[in-house]
Amino acid sequence: MEEKEFETLLDGETYLESLRDGREVFIDGEKVEDVTSHPAFRNSARSIARIYDSMHDPDLRDQLTAVDRFGIRTHKFFQPSYTAKELREARDALVIWARMSYGFMGRTPDYKAAFMASMGCAPEFYEPYTDNALNWYKKYALRGLFLNHVLINPPIDRKKPIHEVKDVFVHVEKETDNGIIVSGAKMLATGSALTHATFVAQNSAVHLDPENAKDFALVFIAEVDTPRSKLLCRRSYESSARSPFDNPLSSRFDENDAVIVFDKALIPWENVLVYRDTERATAFYGASGFFQRYNLQAATRLAVKLDFMSGLFAKAIESNGTENFRGVQVALGNILAWRHLIWGLTETMCRNPEQGPGGCVVPRVEDALAARIFGRESWPAIHNLFETFLGGSPLVAPSSYRDFHHPELRPLLDKYYRGSDSDAVERIKLMKLIWDSIGSEFGGRHLLYELNYSGNNEQIRIDVVTNAEKRGVLDECKSLVDRCMSDYDLSGWTGQDWVFDE
Ligand SMILES: Cc1cc2nc3c(=O)[nH]c(=O)nc-3n(C[C@H](O)[C@H](O)[C@H](O)COP(=O)(O)OP(=O)(O)OC[C@H]3O[C@@H](n4cnc5c(N)ncnc54)[C@H](O)[C@@H]3O)c2cc1C
Repeated sequence: MEEKEFETLLDGETYLESLRDGREVFIDGEKVEDVTSHPAFRNSARSIARIYDSMHDPDLRDQLTAVDRFGIRTHKFFQPSYTAKELREARDALVIWARMSYGFMGRTPDYKAAFMASMGCAPEFYEPYTDNALNWYKKYALRGLFLNHVLINPPIDRKKPIHEVKDVFVHVEKETDNGIIVSGAKMLATGSALTHATFVAQNSAVHLDPENAKDFALVFIAEVDTPRSKLLCRRSYESSARSPFDNPLSSRFDENDAVIVFDKALIPWENVLVYRDTERATAFYGASGFFQRYNLQAATRLAVKLDFMSGLFAKAIESNGTENFRGVQVALGNILAWRHLIWGLTETMCRNPEQGPGGCVVPRVEDALAARIFGRESWPAIHNLFETFLGGSPLVAPSSYRDFHHPELRPLLDKYYRGSDSDAVERIKLMKLIWDSIGSEFGGRHLLYELNYSGNNEQIRIDVVTNAEKRGVLDECKSLVDRCMSDYDLSGWTGQDWVFDE
């Protein structure tokens, strides 16, 4: 497709500027004036700004962006892929962005691209809001917008039907000529304070009663500065980070998780994708290919993170002088094997895709399901290996970088805190990086993230079974067993060539 005249993808500066609007972000008893300068968000905002700048870097531009079928130059994952080659190139573009946070930012702008791109090739699913879908795709792709998403209802009254929790769950209150008025809360809006808009929908696993839950059967996009909407943030790990030396990850990659609250907020009609349609409110997952594509993004980001963790572990055991012990090598082998598995899955997801909506290709759903489960399993397993095989060493570190500046302490630190292969500064730098990745509050949140971001631990497994039943995989597996059982019966082998002497 020939590129049109426009090149309007955001860069770092225009991205930061775009966040200075009327958004209502609350943290620590305070309404934030400007997220780009507030200590709770400013460095994470700059990390995202660097990501935007990368699309304008002459060395990266062609690896990261391409011209879509509308003539829009956008990130390769922000547009649908029509061949396995395009999907693989999109994967490689995801890698470049994931490496910029060493895999520690899960909800960079490419995450929601997994969904938004699908509206560029199959907007008709959202009929009668087809134009809304297509217009959103174009606006989104053109600027490379940053969306967060909230699918989960707050963890209250789980045992009740959705429509019986109207005091809390997001629902439409009334409709007007301008749009729909919505109220309620949703979680967890990861990264939301630094995004342009929130995608709001129901989790694919919820049951919406066709008669009673229509008011809850919504899919819409809310600009972050929507009047009468608020983001209630969790504690910031960025603002409590001691220094770059002490908290090299949390001080710049903290994606704050928030609860979004709508209090009679007006969502203009042009932002509505599904309205009071209990079937389509969850069917869009399957219809859009979102599930397969978000798992490609997530697995790619995780693969980069596992590269990082493999390197981190290898350097730590060298520093401890344990790298030649057999048991320690076994641990490193395990970490590397997790890394190989997840990278391998991303390759398979690109090289062996299936037909998606509107002529695009998406990863096979079985590969996506496997990546979702084993991605989740990899992180606690690796955590455990770090904790087991590094022993107490991540805590053998002075309280902060300032101890190195104290004249009485410095000689002691240099002597007693040296590594087997490095000086004390280098070793402590490494150990503090390890602690920030697995042990700090930021590290703890990462464990919770990897375990839960893709759905609760039961649902992600149930989905594998449902899919295997639906697509005939389970029948194929069972028929293989039937074939084996038909090889013999009470009188011996049913085949001619095997021998049985009674
Ligand atoms: C760090 C972090 C970031 C996140 N970011 C986002 C985000 O950006 N957007 C977003 O939408 N979500 C996000 N989430 C939310 C995440 O998707 C949910 O936490 C996840 O889907 C699990 O849901 P839940 O926490 O409500 O747990 P639940 O669904 O309540 O599950 C917990 C357990 O309760 C039991 N249970 C619950 N309901 C049932 C039931 N109906 N039947 C039987 N058993 C049941 C099961 O044993 C289940 O394992 C994030 C979560 C974390 C931790």
